[in-house]
Amino acid sequence: MKTHQLWFALLLCLVWIMSGCTSAPTLTPAAQSPTAAAGAAATSTPPPPPTVPAATAEPKSSLPTTGPTQPVVTDAPPAILEHLRYLEHASFRLDGPPTIYFDPTKLQGEVIPADIILISHAHNDHYSPAILKQISTAETVIITNETVAAKLKNTTVPGEVRVLKAGEAVTVDEVTIEAVPAYNIGKSYHPKDAGGLGFIVTWGGERLYFAGDTSRIPEMQAIDCDVALLPIDGTYTMNVQEAAEAAGDINPKVVVPMHMGNANPEEFRELCNCPVMILKP
Ligand SMILES: [Zn+2]
Repeated sequence: MKTHQLWFALLLCLVWIMSGCTSAPTLTPAAQSPTAAAGAAATSTPPPPPTVPAATAEPKSSLPTTGPTQPVVTDAPPAILEHLRYLEHASFRLDGPPTIYFDPTKLQGEVIPADIILISHAHNDHYSPAILKQISTAETVIITNETVAAKLKNTTVPGEVRVLKAGEAVTVDEVTIEAVPAYNIGKSYHPKDAGGLGFIVTWGGERLYFAGDTSRIPEMQAIDCDVALLPIDGTYTMNVQEAAEAAGDINPKVVVPMHMGNANPEEFRELCNCPVMILKP
């Protein structure tokens, strides 16, 4: 910036000298009013205006592009998505560290021990003691609701169980896990008083919302996240239309459909106003 200004000043001096030093240097054509320019022409011959290549002119375009007329710059997808593996149905693994499983009921490929396991509720498509035994160790922290915690007491699944209620949060291995409500409105599979949970995981500065089995509920409007994993099956949870409306409530950078049943994720994508990433197990 300063170097450019120096060159600009030198150029002006050169122009002035070449014009015989008969008049003060002219800064830019735009700096003179037409009237002043005409007056100057009547009394002396003005030097030719210095020509500054547009590319090196002090560019307004180098300022932050915040104006409403600036083109919209598409953000890169949240980095957390690169660490997310879809296992099946509502099962995911976040490859950290730490390694975090969400509702693991199936494993794909190499069995990686869990540092943290989140279990939203006790239905067997979300809670599988057989799978938990394969991934949980004595050091694993299992975060879930009271119902699942009670069931775990009757198993030999190793690990430390921590119970959360909606609205509570815990930090494990520098990852913050917030529990949020997950329940049905207008259907009886997941009553609110059953204490089903969704989770918001803050990892690497990004927030991932795992909705659990839920309808479109008013609490979603308060959820702030970069990535939302939303169920779309339409029987036990939201249908594609409701899930698209929920995505509008939440407004994440990317939404990932899950718990799909016979629903068509492409139909969900069509209905959504935010970017949709469809993951394959
Ligand atoms: Zn389910």
